[in-house]
Amino acid sequence: MTTRRCFLRLASLSTLGAAAGTIMGCATAGTGGRRLAMAIDPGKCLQKDGCRACIDACHRAHNVPPIPDREHEVKWIWKERAEDAFASEDGGEGMAPLGGRPVLVLCNHCENPPCVRVCPTRATWKREDGVVMMDEHRCIGCRYCMAACPYGSRSFNWVDPRPHVTTLDPGYPTRTKGVVEKCTFCDERLARGEQPLCVEACPERAIVFGDLRDPASPIRQLTGSRYTMRRKPELGTRPQVYYLI
Ligand code: SF4
Repeated sequence: MTTRRCFLRLASLSTLGAAAGTIMGCATAGTGGRRLAMAIDPGKCLQKDGCRACIDACHRAHNVPPIPDREHEVKWIWKERAEDAFASEDGGEGMAPLGGRPVLVLCNHCENPPCVRVCPTRATWKREDGVVMMDEHRCIGCRYCMAACPYGSRSFNWVDPRPHVTTLDPGYPTRTKGVVEKCTFCDERLARGEQPLCVEACPERAIVFGDLRDPASPIRQLTGSRYTMRRKPELGTRPQVYYLI
């Protein structure tokens, strides 16, 4: 009950644009029964051309190295042309409002994640609340998960990332050459009862996060009342990142 109240409160604060900092007493008390998900409103996100507030905040906080070489780049959240992100929509009704502009993409924390199925060392797994986790210490660098992910949501460290991290955050671990990494919905922040950092960093409040199974949560209400799209729904991975059209 405590957890449900906390998430309600956090999600409401996010919607109102006030979800900043730790909410005391909202530490995660258990994960059973919740289905954590994210909703992105591209209409709001696209209001400011070239905005990278959420991307920069995420990558800085997680020591994601800004490697310019496309072959070696590492990314947890980024923007992709709408036509590429929603290739299977093929000009469907949801595409018109996006107007061919770049949309925010990240790991979809799929309900049926192919990356988890193929990992031979269980370095990636799905929590009961739906968050798809990644433990780089158990990763042997086989990259099966990258081949299985239909969204390109995982990055491989082809080179030692540490020399490329310009502003090191000592509070978050760095990775090594030869391992895969990706977004974990800021599991470290969820454990403290906080929202994912991208939610807080967005100046347009275009990202909402919460428990889809809670009928009173803003994410449930938004996804229930607006037309939504998910990426490549035909594959049956059941992404838990929803786009509000
Ligand atoms: Fe796995 Fe890719 Fe789905 Fe993320 S988007 S859960 S990496 S299959």
